[in-house]
Parts: sequence; structure tokens; C-alpha cells
Amino acid sequence: TANAKDSAPAKSEGEKAADDDEIEDVGAQSLLNKLIRNNLVNTTNQVEVLQKDPNSPLYSVKSFEELRLKPQLLQGVYGMGFNRPSKIQETALPMMLAEPPQNLIAQSQSGTGKTAAFVLAMLSHVDPNNKYPQCLCVSPTYELALQTGKVIEQMGKYYPEVKLVYAIRGNKLQRGMKLQEQIVIGTPGTMLDWCSKFKFIDPKKIKVFVLDEADVMIATQGHQDQSIRIQRMLPKNCQMLLFSATFEESVWNFAQRIVPDPNIIKLKREEETLDTIKQYYVLCNSKEEKFQALSNIYGAITIAQAMIFCHTRKTAGWLAGELSREGHQVALLSGEMQVEQRAAVIERFRDGKEKVLVTTNVCARGIDVEQVSVVINFDLPIDKDGNPDNETYLHRIGRTGRFGKRGLAINMVDSKMSMNILYRIQEHFNKKIEKLDTDDLDEIE
Ligand code: ADP
Repeated sequence: TANAKDSAPAKSEGEKAADDDEIEDVGAQSLLNKLIRNNLVNTTNQVEVLQKDPNSPLYSVKSFEELRLKPQLLQGVYGMGFNRPSKIQETALPMMLAEPPQNLIAQSQSGTGKTAAFVLAMLSHVDPNNKYPQCLCVSPTYELALQTGKVIEQMGKYYPEVKLVYAIRGNKLQRGMKLQEQIVIGTPGTMLDWCSKFKFIDPKKIKVFVLDEADVMIATQGHQDQSIRIQRMLPKNCQMLLFSATFEESVWNFAQRIVPDPNIIKLKREEETLDTIKQYYVLCNSKEEKFQALSNIYGAITIAQAMIFCHTRKTAGWLAGELSREGHQVALLSGEMQVEQRAAVIERFRDGKEKVLVTTNVCARGIDVEQVSVVINFDLPIDKDGNPDNETYLHRIGRTGRFGKRGLAINMVDSKMSMNILYRIQEHFNKKIEKLDTDDLDEIE
């Protein structure tokens, strides 16, 4: 009631948690990555392939022509601006398109071409003359399912006989009806209902089963069981494909339950390194002093574009305000924003419309803004228990292998505690973090 609200303490526990440590939503993170990604991730790493039958020859293609795709699909692929298969597609596509169909578990980071690969496989395997579902694709969230659907529509642009339907909550069908679309894409719960409870889909007629974003999938209670229950209804000869950006033990165990006799393809992430980064710290006593130091730095050196990380939304909002007052064009990325809004902010920053991006830790996880030359940790990254978050530190300021340009990282320290965190980070990476005197800034340029 209104009364209870009025007398309630300033902040509920939930709000506090959201403030200090924005709750991580892996589904939203994954969607954000998709929305801001407009081309392939560069990689120099080789794919690792583990074949079900190690004696069978391993095919890999350097062109889409070699795949003998239907002309309508080849046209669709080129229409999307793809010239040649990505690293993972080189081996994944021939495997997925082989006769008889092969099962596959594939792991590679977001942006390496997995979605495009399985979409092409689904489109290649359906028979448009058969007016019933032949491919099922499960995604962890409604929004991610829509994104994949868009790729199907783009790639299938010249193959309009193939139809697509979304098995997502809210898409209510009449009882007793049978679907005519060849491809069904959706979330596990609704997909399972459509296969078993409502029988809109005859699972025995499915030729290809795709499980996308397995790592995000298992983060949601129930998705794992639902996916396994769908899988069990499918015929033995149905092609099973599973994709994931990461491969922890739990994902791997799940993958093996979904995909029998798999071929396995893995593409390692580019290693991140601090070798090309100059790291500094600045000693202050308060957040106001940290802001003053930041102003001094801006006054002394030319900074093309900087990302500034804060621990809480509150600090991020405050700092963005202060910087704007000083005349900077500031973009703010914050946890209460919708994923689409965040994507728009990142897009503008990438286009150079703003020169400073202020963000909270969780918000920026997994985002690469390649051209950023200066990273400022207004607060050092720590985990829930207050220990240094080395992984986040490395990801924020590290550069990947050969693509990395030189960079500058500045850490703001304002207490004994944060000094201790800094020492531990320094120790962990065994790389010196130099002290910077912001009243005398000649050294850093
Ligand atoms: P993932 O599923 O691994 O995140 P996507 O399939 O979504 O990767 O591909 C990432 C981006 O690269 C998308 O914008 C996609 O259109 C593009 N892409 C995919 N394959 C190719 C290719 N062979 N050539 C050029 N761009 C590609």
C-alpha cells in the first residue's frame, strides 16, 4: 500500500543489490552483444576439431560455392554481404550439410558466425513442399529467438516458400491445429508445450534440432529439463546441433545429454594481454578528488575516447553529470536502461558521437569497443566478496593479441582498501602499475 511505501526504509534490499552489484542477466548481455555486433569478430586462432569418427576425412571449405547450396540460399548469403565462411563456418558448415547429417557441438565466442551457420544448415535441410515443421530451434529468451528469426528471414529472403513461426509465450494458437511452417523457433517451455501438450508439432517429423546459447540456457531454471524433454521426443536420425559461447563443465554435461555422438568444434578466444598497456594509478582521498584528478588528466593530455568504469549506478550518474558540466560530451550506460537503449548508447559512442563513456561494471561486461585508447577505473573492479576481480580488470583494459593497439589504463585509488586491491591486481598479473602524479603529467604522453 501507499502507506507502507512511505514509511519504508529509503531503499529495499533488492534495490540496494541492484545498485551495488547490478544483477547479472546473461540473456540480456547476450542480446546486447548481438545488437551491437555488426560484423565478424577477428580471430587468428585455429579451430580445434574432434570428430565422432576420427578416421573419416575432415572437410573444410574456403568458399560458399564449395558447399553446393541451393542457388536461392547462396543468393541469400551473398545478399547479407558474406564473402567467405568465417573460421568456425569453414569446418562447421561441411559437417552440418554432410549426408548423412552429423551431430555437432560447437563452441566459440559471440560474433564468430555460429548463428549464420546453423541458420544456413536449417534452411538447407528443409523441404518446402512439406507443409509441416522440420526444424526446431530453441533459444534462451524471447528476444534472442527474435534475433535468430531475423537472420532466418534475411538468409531465406530468396527462398520464400520456407516459412517460420515463433514458439514463444503470448503466441496463442487454436487448439487442435497443426503448424504448416517448416521452421519453428522459440523458447524451451513453449516449444515443449507445442510438441507434447498441444501437439501443434509432430516431433517425429523433425530433421534438425538446434539448441542455441547453451550457456545462457542453463542459467535459467527449468530450461535444461525442458530442452532434454523436447530432445527425447525427436527421432533417432534427427540432426542435433548445440552452440555455446563458453564451455564450463555444466554446459558440457548438458551438451552431451542433448547431442549424442557429437562432432566437436572449438574456437579459442583470443588471449587478452596487458603487455601493450601502460598502467598507472592515482592516489586520492575521496570521489571528489578522483574527479579533480580526472579533470587534470583531461587538461593535460589529448584523449580521443575514454571509457570510465564506476562501481555503482549512483557514482556513474554523478560522474557523468560532473563531466558534462565541464563541457565533455558524455554517454552514460546504466543498469536501469533497456537493452535496446544500451545498444544505442554504445553505438553512438562507437561512432564517435561521444568521447567519454561512463559505465558501471556489470553493464559493460563483454563489450568490446576497439578504438578506445584510454580506460579509467574510477573504481577498481571487485567481486561480491570485495576481492579483486582480475578477470574483469583484464577484460576492461587488456587487448587481444595482434589486433590490439597500445593503450593506457588509469586506476583511481581512494582508500587503504582500494590500494590493497591495486597491489593484489599488480601481483596477480605480475605487471607493475606505476604511480601517477596528476599535478605533473608529462610522463604519460
Ligand atoms: P554468433 O552466432 O557466433 O554470435 P553470428 O552468426 O551472429 O555469430 O555472426 C556475427 C556477425 O557476423 C553478424 O553480424 C553476421 O551477420 C556476421 N557474419 C556471420 N558470418 C559471416 C561471414 N561468413 N562473413 C561475413 N560476416 C558474417
